[in-house]
Amino acid sequence: MDLTTLTHTELSDRLEGLRKEHARLKERGLRLDLTRGKPSAEQLELSEPLLSLPGGGDHSAEDGTDCRNYGGLKGLAELRATFAGLLQVPVEQLVALGNSSLELMYESVVDAVLFGLPGAPGPWQREGRTAMLCPVPGYDRHFALCEKLGIDMIPVPMTESGPDMDEVERLVADERVKGIWCVPKYSNPTGATYAPETVRRLAAMETAAPDFRVFWDNAYAVHQLQGDREPVADILGLCAEYGNADRVFVFGSTSKITAAGSGVAFFGSSPANVTWLLGHLSKRTIGPDKINQLRHARFLPDAEAVHAHMERHAELLRPKFELVDAVLEKRLGDTGIASWTRPQGGYFVSLDVLDGCASRVVQLAKDAGVALTPAGATFPYGKDPRDRNIRIAPSYPRLEELGDALEGLALCAELAAVEKLLAG
Ligand code: PMP
Repeated sequence: MDLTTLTHTELSDRLEGLRKEHARLKERGLRLDLTRGKPSAEQLELSEPLLSLPGGGDHSAEDGTDCRNYGGLKGLAELRATFAGLLQVPVEQLVALGNSSLELMYESVVDAVLFGLPGAPGPWQREGRTAMLCPVPGYDRHFALCEKLGIDMIPVPMTESGPDMDEVERLVADERVKGIWCVPKYSNPTGATYAPETVRRLAAMETAAPDFRVFWDNAYAVHQLQGDREPVADILGLCAEYGNADRVFVFGSTSKITAAGSGVAFFGSSPANVTWLLGHLSKRTIGPDKINQLRHARFLPDAEAVHAHMERHAELLRPKFELVDAVLEKRLGDTGIASWTRPQGGYFVSLDVLDGCASRVVQLAKDAGVALTPAGATFPYGKDPRDRNIRIAPSYPRLEELGDALEGLALCAELAAVEKLLAG
């Protein structure tokens, strides 16, 4: 039933019923959590063999490097070779570093602010206010990083084919604009994959800032749930083709492939940018944890092994994403007050409730023991101008818990909408 067409009396009746249902839900004393995109225990189990690799006596990399010793800032060649194709970076331009890609994003932005980038007139800190484009809804930690470092954020609407490129091309004519955050595949949180034309335009566009960078956070490069493997266009190749070879920083990690927080992070870019980053990193560390890299190289010896492993993740995740869609469809499908994404991969579903209702939904859910990501988290400064977006992270809870949490969330979305409609 389309709630937006109901009369005042019909809405009041509905409100009464929903309030009773909410009260019953509260009485159940649930403690459920749909907040962060963490792998479940069953998913982590898939990588259990990692914990006994490389094993006593196995410490030599393919080139004879003794992984127990210092050195090798670029990371192990065999691991880089496995991920080069998956991240679409030539192996000599891909480096395998620490345990977190977010850390590498932070490092690269800090180095740009303090020291300046290849091709830059100087460090960003000498240029007054600088800004980054932030496709919205987007990843809250990208936004937190900018906020921490005093970089202004300019929201750009996300579409099903990536950021609104007309808007991006218009905004990059301002030389204050130094970069854009992109999660090109199975984006966080909408699940959208950038269309080839979006990638081409990002590579080709003219930017006023000579040191403009695309922060290509390919966190979900191999995290397919269904359908064909969706290829994303080769941004590094396209940037070089359009004469903007230094434009893109590619990031990735095995956080949601092996052990979250104990994986290996990658950085790929033009030769000049790789030399630049390693130059700064070499002042911070003598080299990465090569034993962890060797462990990963043994466990994931080639790209096919990665795909096979990801299919096992998908088998565990698929029913959860199907459940999200089924419950939302059942409870909200014809209400006219909600829409959500049906991603082919990644970790999230993005739910839009009635304008002005997201904060209320999150509060109502919290009262009923269902923790949701704070409303606004998917926008710069935590401010969703339409107060409507909620990120759902279905990976962690068990199926039964997930079902209960979603029923609760859908109830709260309907209750908040009816309250809003009644208030006019
Ligand atoms: N980027 C995106 C888009 C993510 O969703 C996440 C994890 N939530 C990360 C980066 C973090 O990656 P890492 O563990 O490699 O720091």
